[in-house]
Amino acid sequence: MKKVLLVTGASRGIGAATALLAAHRGWDVAVNYSTHAQAAQDVVVQAIAAAGGRAISVQADVANEGQVLAMFETVREKLGPVSGLVNNAGVLDVAARLDEMSVARWRRMFEINVIGSLLCAREAVRQMSTRHGGSGGSIVNLSSAAARMGAPGQYLDYAASKGAIDTFTIGLAKEVAAEGIRVNAIRPGLIDTEIHASGGSPNRVRELEHLVPIQRGGTALEVAQAVLWLLSDEASYTTMSLLDVSGGR
Ligand code: NAP
Repeated sequence: MKKVLLVTGASRGIGAATALLAAHRGWDVAVNYSTHAQAAQDVVVQAIAAAGGRAISVQADVANEGQVLAMFETVREKLGPVSGLVNNAGVLDVAARLDEMSVARWRRMFEINVIGSLLCAREAVRQMSTRHGGSGGSIVNLSSAAARMGAPGQYLDYAASKGAIDTFTIGLAKEVAAEGIRVNAIRPGLIDTEIHASGGSPNRVRELEHLVPIQRGGTALEVAQAVLWLLSDEASYTTMSLLDVSGGR
């Protein structure tokens, strides 16, 4: 039976790279997106062209419970029960100090980055857990190096949301370890994607890469390779890990 992977926020960036690499490695892939349907469909087409496996795009705002439930049902109907989940969908906001931030900004950040990840993990556990008649699986959460650096003066709300992801990873890994499910997180550093433009700093990677011990930003593919290892059976004894993919920063 083919393994089925759902990648949230896979219409571009790290999510798209992960979906494509997973297709190469033989997974059937569900490419989630929130607004960019055509970009998600392009990833599907590339995934099928590359690997000949099955791939679908599926819309859902991960912060919307009804849409997430419908997404998991669609994936189960079209591809089968999920055995892999990558909680990748996440948002940044413009650089600001705490004393300049609005509550509306914090709510959006936490609803997408934190509640969205909990919600998708909940639905995945319901399909994967041996407790619910499933065959087990693997969950990888996208945290950030910001979780340990704090991002002062820039976006400490984002950093705090990723700190919540680290703690969630530790708790869920222990909760479902005996039910055939491994749960890990990746903490990327400066990765060259469009998320920096959404935070108002399109040149952020170039401006800060001299601070990275490896002396460059990372690529989405370099993060995807770590995600795929954690998803794979080669990581069969690895759970509750917070893996830094940050060039030493
Ligand atoms: P990105 O290029 O901005 O892509 C974000 C993706 O998330 C898009 O596909 C977007 O799809 C989707 N998305 C946004 N809100 C969503 C929602 N509510 N529901 C479903 N999908 C949603 O970001 P990225 O750089 O690849 O980052 C991916 C993950 O890695 C994020 O969790 C981010 O925090 C984390 N990360 C990134 C870096 C970095 O330097 N790039 C560093 C550390 C951690 P639509 O456009 O269709 O909405």
